Amino acid sequence: MHNGLTVSYPVSTPQAEIVTYVQNYVRSRGDRWGADGVNFLTSEPIFENESKAYDFLMSKVDDCYGGYAVRYYDTSSVSTTRTKVIDIQIQKTIDKKAEWVLAHSIHNLKAKHITCAKCSSRLNKSYIKGEKCPLCYADLRSKAVLERIKGFEDKIALLRKEKEEHCRPKATVMWLVWFEYNS
Ligand SMILES: [Zn+2]
Repeated sequence: MHNGLTVSYPVSTPQAEIVTYVQNYVRSRGDRWGADGVNFLTSEPIFENESKAYDFLMSKVDDCYGGYAVRYYDTSSVSTTRTKVIDIQIQKTIDKKAEWVLAHSIHNLKAKHITCAKCSSRLNKSYIKGEKCPLCYADLRSKAVLERIKGFEDKIALLRKEKEEHCRPKATVMWLVWFEYNS
């Protein structure tokens, strides 16, 4: 079976140590076939978080049992008065979104039937489990409700970005290493 694995190391770690880890990992598993080294992509910018670094590495996946590494800012251990305030704001927004989603479920509407705006099907609500049309999968909630949900999500994303930017000067720069092996 083809497997991919990611590991993180502070950039201060000698690259040879990381390569040795990858080689030992690959050679002690399955049929011992996999990445033979790590291509440290130092020409790539330092990614603003692990998730962006991961997405980039996934775009390099070539099924050729390669190994790649890019850098990212790890802000997870940074804690300041400002991050505590932002964390509270994030949690409040998450809670508000959850309340809004619950309060505006199609199952709270009094009517037994609902018409899908996309495919025009008239649906009996008791046969619908979530909020989507079982025929065309369109969200059955009103545009205003969906816009409000998106508003909460945008606010959460903005707060997370603000936190990242605030933490960046104190962040640890890490290598995110991705490699493939067979098992
Ligand atoms: Zn539909």
